[in-house]
Amino acid sequence: MEIVDLAVIGGGPAGSSAARESSERGLSTLLFDHAYPRRKACGGGLPVKGIEWMDAPDDAIECRMTSISFAYGGTKLKVPVKKGKMVRRDDWDYYLFRRAVEAGTTHVKEKVRQLERDGDTWLINGKHRSRYLIGADGVNGFTRRHFLGPIPREHLFAASGYYLGLKPTENEVEFILGAIPGEEGYLWIFPKADHYNIGYCYNAGTPGMKEALEKLLHERWPGEFTNSGRYKLASGEEVDCIRFGSAIPSYNDPKLFDVPVSGKGWVLAGDAAGHVNPIHGEGLNHAVLGGRLAAQAVYEGDPTLFEQYWREHYAHDMYRAAKTKHRIYRPFFMRIGFALGRTPAVFGLLSTLTRGEYEGKATRAFYLRAPLAALQVLFGMRHRDV
Ligand SMILES: Cc1cc2nc3c(=O)[nH]c(=O)nc-3n(C[C@H](O)[C@H](O)[C@H](O)COP(=O)(O)OP(=O)(O)OC[C@H]3O[C@@H](n4cnc5c(N)ncnc54)[C@H](O)[C@@H]3O)c2cc1C
Repeated sequence: MEIVDLAVIGGGPAGSSAARESSERGLSTLLFDHAYPRRKACGGGLPVKGIEWMDAPDDAIECRMTSISFAYGGTKLKVPVKKGKMVRRDDWDYYLFRRAVEAGTTHVKEKVRQLERDGDTWLINGKHRSRYLIGADGVNGFTRRHFLGPIPREHLFAASGYYLGLKPTENEVEFILGAIPGEEGYLWIFPKADHYNIGYCYNAGTPGMKEALEKLLHERWPGEFTNSGRYKLASGEEVDCIRFGSAIPSYNDPKLFDVPVSGKGWVLAGDAAGHVNPIHGEGLNHAVLGGRLAAQAVYEGDPTLFEQYWREHYAHDMYRAAKTKHRIYRPFFMRIGFALGRTPAVFGLLSTLTRGEYEGKATRAFYLRAPLAALQVLFGMRHRDV
């Protein structure tokens, strides 16, 4: 039986990026995924922060965002953006997958169900052998459960929504906060080339998520579901309204990031490693970069080097988000944040943060500007774009 250098389990953004990096570095690489072609449940918004890490040329993207807005109560803060991109997960994932294959990766269309350590090699499904292994089969997939056990439910977001078959009139990405008072999460409306992607993202088990989404759907686009699962608008027009959903890692305790996600001969990347921002559930940037860094560690002969690499690149954001998640979603913080956010003193800071362009200590900058912003609130001053 041939022994390859690396077996990558899972061909999503993390796995395909890892496989491509590994093949480009000259390692013989197998990429296991039984499900291609498939459409992963996702909003498909490429995080503005770290957009340069992601391989998303024009022909792989669906449309460009023109603005990102945050709404809470009666206040809406709308930030113009230039580099935001939206992807269809079937198209973009397949593009990344093809890039791996073009670089020399061999696709094995099998679901991995069996994994054994046999001397210095891994035996996969009883018939493939590799020296190293990267687990990139998503949240609570086979490799996560095999090496570390599942991510507990209290550290997961539940995310679900609809592909609503109406062509967007504007490429505005909307986040709606406070729809379920006091709960941690949000509703979203994302524009796509030929439909809206709308959904909710809340701590798993939050009561009222589905109802909050249905309320938003009916308020924005009055109508009703038909017996055939389509949506009939008040005008009488019927459009597709296809349901999707899944879980997203969202560590509610920063200590979970202390747990190593690698060991002798193995390393996890992407959702399998839990590398998703706990506040908003964006994981595509860390999946792509994490996959590549995992492959780099394997190439250097020690998968545990990944701990050092991911910490250098994006651990700071993860820890900070896990620490501040509970504060940020508190109604008190939301009210203050939105009142200050629309002032000239703070709106500029919010805009550069949203665009992922802010260099420096944002919390410190916020506290320095807060007294002036408070005065501007008192005098009813608003930024001209609000
Ligand atoms: C509803 C929803 C909306 C989201 N919206 C956004 C967003 O707008 N922006 C953002 O940045 N992030 C978003 N995310 C998070 C993002 O989707 C994930 O972080 C990202 O997909 C992680 O990539 P991955 O490669 O680690 O895993 P995945 O994309 O889950 O890929 C895992 C792959 O492994 C394969 N696999 C599974 N089990 C096995 C097995 N046993 N053997 C072989 N192959 C296997 C699967 O077929 C799949 O192809 C969203 C998530 C959800 C659920």
